[in-house]
Amino acid sequence: MTAESRTFDLAVIGAGINGAGVARDAALRGLSVVLFDKGDVCNGTSWASSRLIHGGLRYLEYGEIPLVYESLHERRHLRRIASHLVKPLRICIPIYRGAKRGPLMVRLGLIGYDLLAWSKPLPRHKMLGRDEIRAREPGLLQDRLRAAACYYDAQVTFAERLVLENVLAARAAGAEIMTYAEVTDIVIRGGAVASLNCEDTLTGQRTQIAPKVVVNAAGPWVDAVLNKTGKRFPPLIGGTKGSHIIVSRFDGAPRDAFYVEADTDGRPFFILPWNGLFLIGTTDTRYDGDLSSVRATRAEVDYLLAETNRVFPAAGLTIGDVHYAYAGIRPLPAQTGGPESAITRKHIIKSHRRVARGLMSVIGGKLTTYRNLAEHVVDKVGKALGRRLPECRTSDTLLPGGWGLEEARDALGALSALSGAGVDRLLRVYGGRAVGIAAIAQQRPELDGCVDEAATLPEAEIAFVVAEEMPRTLVDIVYRRMMIGLDADQGRTHYARIAELAAAEFGWDDARRDAELYALRAHTDSLQVGRPEAKKLTS
Ligand SMILES: Cc1cc2nc3c(=O)[nH]c(=O)nc-3n(C[C@H](O)[C@H](O)[C@H](O)COP(=O)(O)OP(=O)(O)OC[C@H]3O[C@@H](n4cnc5c(N)ncnc54)[C@H](O)[C@@H]3O)c2cc1C
Repeated sequence: MTAESRTFDLAVIGAGINGAGVARDAALRGLSVVLFDKGDVCNGTSWASSRLIHGGLRYLEYGEIPLVYESLHERRHLRRIASHLVKPLRICIPIYRGAKRGPLMVRLGLIGYDLLAWSKPLPRHKMLGRDEIRAREPGLLQDRLRAAACYYDAQVTFAERLVLENVLAARAAGAEIMTYAEVTDIVIRGGAVASLNCEDTLTGQRTQIAPKVVVNAAGPWVDAVLNKTGKRFPPLIGGTKGSHIIVSRFDGAPRDAFYVEADTDGRPFFILPWNGLFLIGTTDTRYDGDLSSVRATRAEVDYLLAETNRVFPAAGLTIGDVHYAYAGIRPLPAQTGGPESAITRKHIIKSHRRVARGLMSVIGGKLTTYRNLAEHVVDKVGKALGRRLPECRTSDTLLPGGWGLEEARDALGALSALSGAGVDRLLRVYGGRAVGIAAIAQQRPELDGCVDEAATLPEAEIAFVVAEEMPRTLVDIVYRRMMIGLDADQGRTHYARIAELAAAEFGWDDARRDAELYALRAHTDSLQVGRPEAKKLTS
């Protein structure tokens, strides 16, 4: 049965981290759910983040203590339910003479952070004297260095997979998932949501469903979605843009992650070891441009390069060292005046019952706090439905890849064509779900080889993601399933072979396969800054 003829308790618009979390929670609590996204899962802000699961040390400066507490609490839950994706990260803050934030201020902040994280099992912060930090990080700028503070947070290398696993869990609990399904109209009748229309952006097929409640979790597109009701709403989102660059390990690169104050404007930014590379960012500027083409500008990239070269003087990074860059819009609450960094990162769940009963919008939130946000939203959905829902179970129900890691390691280890590095890679990306890749490699002898010489990309992986993970395009497979799109060379050398394998699984003809390859290459190029031929493709 398609979604067309059905009524749902809940329709969720947007399969970013927040919509995915809401769909999972609601489905686990027994609601009938449909989740729409106008593109693939995690194609919006959620992939363009700094990928930290963090308390948000900086928010303490703005007195957002409940938010920091909530985030630290959630950090613990996510490390448990997604231990294959969310890993601890040691972060150092160097403190220089004349900096906006001196040792006392940093130390007080970290004492507060540790207190708020009380009983959350990560080591407490440590202050390092000048000689200690110099010995540990010899590449760090020494001039005017007074001390350093080191503390722990967590990192989700593949945020895309965190979102996807929430969607897969929602589907396993009965939710219907519609990707490349753009919601085009929300019909309000008699002061309540009556129906919702969407269009498949790949096939043009139109679908109508009748949900009792609609959650607008469209991130930066929340206002655009509200416009589809034909009613007037005051603007809810005041987005700010943040850009990141990705470079290889550079001369003098740190062992730990660094949280540094920029010289130009005093803004803190991160230099993060990530995915065998370094992820550097972010910027923070108000944005009211086109949401469909958000790119890191050359000026933003130059700012991040210059600030990194200043703090790690041997780095000498230039535009030619940037493998790729990405940018996203923080879906923050609309607020005029004041610095961008002072806009609250708390989430708001806005009910629109005066105009349309059963319609609510999610504003703000962080990758870190999505689970808790989803719990609040689903509690409100229960009230809107007039139903007493079961308790939320998402804090102690592991995500699909969180189970069976040892079993998957054994099954992958038995594949003679796969290298040890390949086993590690598959567990990092798929967690325990990787057992399904081993099973396909065993069952289908024609797929028992690897795509790459290093034997890390089994052919069976492509068959697995097509069968089990709902991709619809080659970009979905490379960038949001296999994750090789985020490698230094963006996986380029393997595109043609992956396209062949995907075409065989989907039953695409040659024309479709070539169109998919063209679109994939165009997507890869869109993340480039400067001249691609100047890139050093080493990692
Ligand atoms: C630069 C930057 C760095 C960040 N760093 C961090 C960090 O380190 N840690 C952290 O916790 N948080 C971080 N955040 C915040 C976090 O990434 C976002 O708050 C979060 O990802 C928002 O998720 P979302 O699901 O609300 O929105 P999105 O991920 O944008 O999802 C919204 C979805 O709605 C879909 N959609 C829109 N219109 C329609 C329609 N008409 N029909 C169907 N679907 C539609 C879109 O396609 C999109 O997939 C960062 C944000 C930015 C921008």
